[in-house]
Amino acid sequence: MNIIHDTFGRKINYLRLSVTDRCDFRCTYCMSEKMQFLPRSEILSLEECLLVAKAFVQLGVKKIRLTGGEPLTRKDLPWLAARISELEGLRELTLTTNGSQLIHFAKPLVEAGVDRVNISLDSLKAETFHRITRVGNLHQVLSGIDAAIDAWGCRRVKINTVVIRNINHVETFDLALFALTRGIDISFIEQMPLGETGFHHSDSFFSNSDLLSQLSTRFDLIPSLENTGGPARYWRLAGHESRIGFISPHSHNFCADCNRMRVTARGELFPCLGNEGMVDLLAAARADDEVRLRELIAQAAALKPEAHTFDISKTEPQIVRFMSHTGG
Ligand code: SAM
Ligand code: SF4
Repeated sequence: MNIIHDTFGRKINYLRLSVTDRCDFRCTYCMSEKMQFLPRSEILSLEECLLVAKAFVQLGVKKIRLTGGEPLTRKDLPWLAARISELEGLRELTLTTNGSQLIHFAKPLVEAGVDRVNISLDSLKAETFHRITRVGNLHQVLSGIDAAIDAWGCRRVKINTVVIRNINHVETFDLALFALTRGIDISFIEQMPLGETGFHHSDSFFSNSDLLSQLSTRFDLIPSLENTGGPARYWRLAGHESRIGFISPHSHNFCADCNRMRVTARGELFPCLGNEGMVDLLAAARADDEVRLRELIAQAAALKPEAHTFDISKTEPQIVRFMSHTGG
């Protein structure tokens, strides 16, 4: 098997596969209020997604995360998950979701072989939650989290929180406590300036170093060397199973250990979230051409830059595509 490496010697063993750019929420930092979504004819079919996933696994990818947009807006997602989870050589299939549909999907996804799930939750207050997501319903998501804990067990469920100054940065202690009391992990994410969202990332940015100091006034946090293969650095609390993670593209750049590539719902392969370099897989996927797919993936690895170039002090987005397009 050919294992893919980039030109900086980093091994690529993790794929984030976006199955849609659509979403039932409109989070302010991720989307503009009036989004134009791709026409369905331009989106990879689930069969084409499977072909792309297979090509990556043949090249040594061990972990695949299904994402979007909101992946659970594709009602046949368990069909895709069941086929990807059976690919020989894959060690872990995971999902990132806003949780709104988990009450219906948690069990079928576990049965389909999804090993763990990340659920986005930015606030425990209905009003703030609505302000951030514009249309989301907090109770639906909290029920989704309960359904996920029932289906996967608490050690396989994680909360992701994007921290926004003056909106939810004061709630981070409560969010951490929410996770701790359920025995689930939580990761706090620094905002990235992606897409013409109309959101002022520089004003609302709250760094994870500040957050760590804030949480340390209430919790006795112990740094942990654990690595789950993703970008989070973890802290633990004595007597608790849960870990508190920090995903810090700005205050602690993680590019040196980056093992990931991303495929969008229309088959664009981005070797880096924070750069525009891309290789188009759509035609090869439509032609059912596995050999060509593997060649294109190797080409994309060669394009992977050493580091992203985000500068949070600038108000304008540095990458024009939305996070929901690239896949989180
Ligand atoms: N819809 C799903 C969800 O919200 O979990 C999956 C896709 S979403 C794009 C994946 C993750 O990206 C979410 O945790 C979301 O909060 C995060 N995200 C979106 N826009 C972001 C931004 N500008 N900066 C940092 N994280 C962002
Ligand atoms: Fe949708 Fe996820 Fe983006 Fe929120 S962060 S708008 S839930 S894709």
